[in-house]
Amino acid sequence: MPTILVIEDEPQIVEILRDYLLRSGFRVVAAGDGPSGLGLARRESPDLVVLDLMLPGAMDGLDVCRQLRREKSHSMVPIIMLTARVEETDRLIGLELGADDYVTKPFSPREVVARVRAVLRRTSGSEAAAAIVQVADLEIDREYRQVRLAGQPVELTPTEFDLLATLATQPGRPFTREELTEQVYDAVYTSFDRAVDSHIKNLRRKIETDPGRPEYILTTYGVGYRLNDRPAAAAGQRPQHG
Ligand code: CA
Repeated sequence: MPTILVIEDEPQIVEILRDYLLRSGFRVVAAGDGPSGLGLARRESPDLVVLDLMLPGAMDGLDVCRQLRREKSHSMVPIIMLTARVEETDRLIGLELGADDYVTKPFSPREVVARVRAVLRRTSGSEAAAAIVQVADLEIDREYRQVRLAGQPVELTPTEFDLLATLATQPGRPFTREELTEQVYDAVYTSFDRAVDSHIKNLRRKIETDPGRPEYILTTYGVGYRLNDRPAAAAGQRPQHG
């Protein structure tokens, strides 16, 4: 039974989420503020965290998210953010935070359960092909959900991994943002283009020597992104322009 950690200060929301998640076959542990949430994460090693953005006290949802990503044992745990404002979402999903999904308040508990299921499905690795894709120094291991660069493991969020693994299914072929969104977000989402861009930016920061002149993940202008199938030829010799 997967354990879901809910970090949320509004008791009514906690109760309704607990109710729906329990009925959907999940175990639920809950905390009302950031520090006790982190404590529970350390004790319970949850399979997924539902995290409210606006928490009382000195530690808000962004701080908790950052801290979880920093701790080795939780750096890969999927995180769904609860947020009151749609405008926050780009910032949440992208950049340094690496939350995997978000739900805007007010939400239906059914929607939250559906997203919990979707995120767990795509991060569980159960449908992963037993394939390792190697492009120059970059190694993408779908079975173990690991990425290595020159033999060294690279820590990616579940969403970053899914994006990279999708690109690696057909190196050289451009994927549209829409395709990437569908692959990564179960086709439920329609406006994640800029979230894809943010994740790609993060991926580049982690695996490219010079993220401004990427050698692995290339932009196909007007389309989307592709994994370079000839990185050795490209490396350091000419600027990438598409
Ligand atoms: Ca709150």
